[in-house]
Amino acid sequence: MPQIGLPPYDDQNIFAKILRGQIPCRKVYEDEWVLAFQDINPQAPVHVLVIPREKYCSFADFSASASEAEIAGFFRAVGKIAKTLGLEDSGYRLLANMGADAHQEVPHFHLHMFGGRRLGPMLARQG
Ligand code: 5GP
Repeated sequence: MPQIGLPPYDDQNIFAKILRGQIPCRKVYEDEWVLAFQDINPQAPVHVLVIPREKYCSFADFSASASEAEIAGFFRAVGKIAKTLGLEDSGYRLLANMGADAHQEVPHFHLHMFGGRRLGPMLARQG
């Protein structure tokens, strides 16, 4: 359940529809905790989204409400995906947008995984 002060989870968000199989995705990995798929608008040669199977609207919600097993399962899967995609030697970047200042677009917690080229500075100057 979401924490007090956080918005309720929107069952109609695009990732909820992907999880329900109502919208297709290019799947990269799945297990009992996560689904990982290619971003529809990739910002790097590798741009994968990793999402928990359960309903968390943001990192704030996930970090406060998910069980220890879900949190561990999620982050272990992220490491496994990076390894499977061959990113460990060349490197990669993980990013989670939370809320308005970070331009979070989809209200289902997700991590972006970027790789496959030099990724440049950590943050754009503005945007
Ligand atoms: P956010 O700004 O919420 O961190 O990122 C949302 C990401 O979801 C964006 O990078 C966007 O390209 C991606 N996205 C939005 N709609 C879809 C979709 O229908 N399918 C896939 N695979 N990615 C999507």
